Amino acid sequence: MSISDWFKAREARRYTTINGERAAGSEVPDGVWSTCSACKRIVYEGQLVEYLRVCPHCGHHFDLNAFERIGLLADPESFDEFDAGVGSTDPLGFVAAKPYTESLESARERSGLTEGVVVGRATVGGHPVVLGAMDFRFIGASMGSAVGEKIARAFELALDERRAVVLCTASGGARMQEGMLSLMQMAKTSATVRRLAEARLPYISVLTNPTMGGVTASFAVVADVVLAEPGALVGFAGPRVIEQTIKQHLPKGFQSSEFLLEHGMVDEVVPRGQLTARVTTLLDYLARGGERA
Ligand SMILES: [Zn+2]
Repeated sequence: MSISDWFKAREARRYTTINGERAAGSEVPDGVWSTCSACKRIVYEGQLVEYLRVCPHCGHHFDLNAFERIGLLADPESFDEFDAGVGSTDPLGFVAAKPYTESLESARERSGLTEGVVVGRATVGGHPVVLGAMDFRFIGASMGSAVGEKIARAFELALDERRAVVLCTASGGARMQEGMLSLMQMAKTSATVRRLAEARLPYISVLTNPTMGGVTASFAVVADVVLAEPGALVGFAGPRVIEQTIKQHLPKGFQSSEFLLEHGMVDEVVPRGQLTARVTTLLDYLARGGERA
């Protein structure tokens, strides 16, 4: 093979993917290289795994799916999922661009999940907890009746077994295909958070990119301690909707974790590499209160 052929062959082997997505029509294996959406530099997939999917060049936090988040926080082999079979049906017979039942089906196929949140018993730093993580791949981890039900049941189980709750949120907001039934989940989940607080059991939420809409407006921000990953977008309505409504330009960095920390809505912005240790320390402090109650 001539040197120019070698370079051509090398070009054909460019395993570059954008944000972990395989380029259309590519014949090469998935996920060998990814491009960082923040600094646009190319990162070797193996290195990304080693750095907990944080860009080694600029510190940008790539998205994690629900089981990656659980794997990050739970003590090894401690996670035991419950309510895995709880999933939304189509109570309104909703059809938009396509029937809701089809959206559910393709989300299930793509993600291997039944719904947009995974919950289970686990230990974190040796503390018994109910641990949950939302998965943005599943219809934007929007909160329909099944997501709300799983969250509410997670708190109820924590109450029954006197466990702390640790939830990693990520959500586009309400599941519009379920209309009013989706909006009701805000009240339902918030009420169970309150019951946990009355039982003096700790609740730590970890806001990840993006956490928006009805999830931000309910269980995500009423925790005892609200942590957030660096650079996460957290808010209720999106910036464009707000600008159109109030007819003013928003400040730079509006709705980022750092902005919310500055304005008192987030308690601490914690880089992913320090998250498990920080949650463990908080449980060390807070779980003792529950034991005394
Ligand atoms: Zn980067």
